[in-house]
Order: sequence, then C-alpha cells, then structure tokens
Amino acid sequence: MRRVALVTGASRGIGRGIAIRLASDGHRVVLVSRTRDALESVQAEIESSGGSAAVVTCDLSDGEAVAAMIEQVTSDEERIDILVNNAGITRDGLILRMSDEDFDAVLAVNLRSVFVACRGVARTMMRGRWGRIINISSVTGLVGNPGQANYAAAKAGVIGLTKTIAKELGSKGITANVVAPGFIGTEMTEALGEQVLGEASKRIPLKRLGTPEEIAGAVSYLASEDGGYVTGQVLTVDGGLVC
Ligand code: NAP
Repeated sequence: MRRVALVTGASRGIGRGIAIRLASDGHRVVLVSRTRDALESVQAEIESSGGSAAVVTCDLSDGEAVAAMIEQVTSDEERIDILVNNAGITRDGLILRMSDEDFDAVLAVNLRSVFVACRGVARTMMRGRWGRIINISSVTGLVGNPGQANYAAAKAGVIGLTKTIAKELGSKGITANVVAPGFIGTEMTEALGEQVLGEASKRIPLKRLGTPEEIAGAVSYLASEDGGYVTGQVLTVDGGLVC
C-alpha cells in the first residue's frame, strides 16, 4: 500500500538512501532538511525512477519550526504514515572541554526534534490506527564513545523515547523502533579521516564500513507490513561491531 513517509536529513548520506528506498517501495516521500537544492536533487532522482517526492525545508534545531513543519506536511499530504527521524549532527569534544552550547546544539537536533516530530504525528497516526515511527540512533547511544558525551546522551535518549512511544501507542496500531548504525560511509564519517576509519574497519567483524543502502534496507523492513509485529526494538546495523 502507498503510504506517506517523512524522512528528515534526506539531503545526503543515510537519509538520502532511506528516502530513495522508501520511494522505490512505492511510498510518497517528504524530504526534509535545511538545504533546498540538495533536497531537490534527491527529489529529481526519485521522480526519474517513477517515484513520488516532495521537498520541505526546516531547521530542526528550532523546536517550534519542527512542530510547524509537521503540522504543515500533515495538512498538505493529509497524513504522515511513516516518520523517519534521521537528521543528526556531531559536535565532538572530551567532556572537560565540551561547552554547554555544543551539548545543547546536539541535543536539540538529535533528540528534541525527534520528540517534537513524534508528538506531532501521533494524533493523525492514532486516528488512522496505523503508523510507523523509525528513529535513527547510533551504536554510540548503546555503548558510549570518548569525545561524544553530547552525541551519546542524545542517541541513548532516542532509544528511551522510542521504547516509551512503542508502549504508549502500540494499542493504536503504531509501531516505534530504532535503527542503530555503526560506521556508515557518509560525510559524517568522512570527517573522521582515513586513518580512524581504517582502524575502525579492523575492529568490525565484517571488516568494512556499511552503506546508506544497508541502513535503508532495515528501515524499509520496519516500515513494511512484514514489520508490523516488531515494536520497541533497537535494530543494530553495524557489521557486528557491538555484539
Ligand atoms: P550526514 O551525512 O552528516 O547528513 C546529516 C543530515 O542531517 C543531512 O541531510 C543534513 O541536512 C541534516 N541536518 C543536519 N542538521 C540539520 C538541521 N539543523 N535541520 C535539518 N536537517 C539537518 O549524516 P549521516 O551520516 O547520513 O547520518 C544520518 C543519521 O545517522 C544521523 O542521525 C547520525 O547521527 C546517524 N548515524 C550515522 C552514522 C554514520 O556512520 N554515518 C553512524 C551512526 C549513526 P542539511 O545539512 O541539508 O540540513
């Protein structure tokens, strides 16, 4: 069945991969990030393969803007059936040197926007008695990582938030799950440099970084009818890094 899916951080990397996959699964996809040009090129890619996509710009660090964006999309599209909270940022630094600003900036995009978007879609999903919420966390949210106190706190928060939503909304036909990627080849990991990534690959049982398409496959399953009895789970897609 054709659903309306909203994907945040769809302009590049994992979010782009998720958006393209959900479109190829037959869903209409609403692409959200701050950068219209990049979103439009993902939209063009989707439409050239016969898919359907809309572009919406929003700065997710602004909670009120997130709430307004969800309301606008719900009104324009008449519903949001599948919500994928994927957008994320890093502001790394050891705890002794981490500023309040860097902590708050990461929490705003990586956790508060997820909460606001989930709250925003809940009512219409409840009314339709069907919904899929898929939040992208990280293995860092499971095991921590030196230099990422802010990021780890936000990503662990996403897991607690999602499990709570699964319990609150399950009786309304809504599932809520987390996908926790390990090292995936995107601009976010490129910033770590070749040496760090080479060392990381050695520690990964599958001996390589993952791809956005491999995360998209997990999201596609959780969004599908086949995933309908899976809720409150954390699906780790990390080549075996944390097992
Ligand atoms: P990326 O390549 O850096 O892309 C981040 C996306 O988030 C972009 O589309 C960006 O769009 C959007 N974004 C950032 N700040 C935003 C804001 N304030 N408002 C709206 N959109 C914003 O990252 P990625 O590697 O694809 O990561 C995607 C998700 O997976 C993140 O949540 C990340 O934490 C998680 N993750 C990634 C890895 C990895 O190895 N790559 C591992 C574990 C978890 P604009 O710049 O166009 O706004």
